[in-house]
Amino acid sequence: MKIAVRMDDITPDMDWKSFLKFEKLLDKYGIAPLIGVVPCNRDTNLMREASRVEFWDYVHKLTQKGWCVAQHGCYHQYTTKKAGIFPLNPFSEFAGLEKEKQKKLIRDGKEMLKHHGIETDIFMAPGHSFDENTLEVLKESGFRYLTDGFGDAPYERGGLTFFPISVKRSDCFREKEGFTTLVFHTNGMSEEEIEGYDKMFAAHRDQFISYREYLKQTPVKRGWIGQKKEWSLATAKRVTVRLIALVRSKSAQ
Ligand SMILES: [Zn+2]
Repeated sequence: MKIAVRMDDITPDMDWKSFLKFEKLLDKYGIAPLIGVVPCNRDTNLMREASRVEFWDYVHKLTQKGWCVAQHGCYHQYTTKKAGIFPLNPFSEFAGLEKEKQKKLIRDGKEMLKHHGIETDIFMAPGHSFDENTLEVLKESGFRYLTDGFGDAPYERGGLTFFPISVKRSDCFREKEGFTTLVFHTNGMSEEEIEGYDKMFAAHRDQFISYREYLKQTPVKRGWIGQKKEWSLATAKRVTVRLIALVRSKSAQ
């Protein structure tokens, strides 16, 4: 499989230390990722360092070297307990909200990015959670692409093109045709993890592509069976992640 890289939770107050190390790593292997920039971060979990004033200029510099930017929600605040139509997590900034509220959040976020000179038609939903209303609002607000969903190729849904993410990291390295995305969160990423990723990129360099190349792939049509399969996989993944967390918390007691 060909693998694109996406980095979540990019904010002026992120864990810059890990971010800069990961950036160096991607540069070493010549991989340009997609970064999910939060227009106005209000999520305290993402506040890792003092906010840097040069952040927005830095984002511009990254785009100049081929990195892509996605709008990562608006405030990155989970205000509902809905999992939506790609149910990986039982919380959301959008799923479950009435359409007008979603429209305000998405358009406010878009305006804020524009104020910083960033225009993008790629959307990254915080927590991977969104519903049918989110898709309608995105389409009406000029978005064309979403980084989410499961599958082996970009696909069309509700007038938008989805660029799937991986279900399981190890599956990406099997001999198989198609495309996927590996998702990375640099906030709190340890030195050991970064070393591990260094080895991973070195071992599989020929499989990695830049996100811009992923965006060039022609999307396939997706029917209701494909959608059902994706929903079941996302639900299974959510349940598995919960069970593992439960077992870990029990064994830690
Ligand atoms: Zn996020």
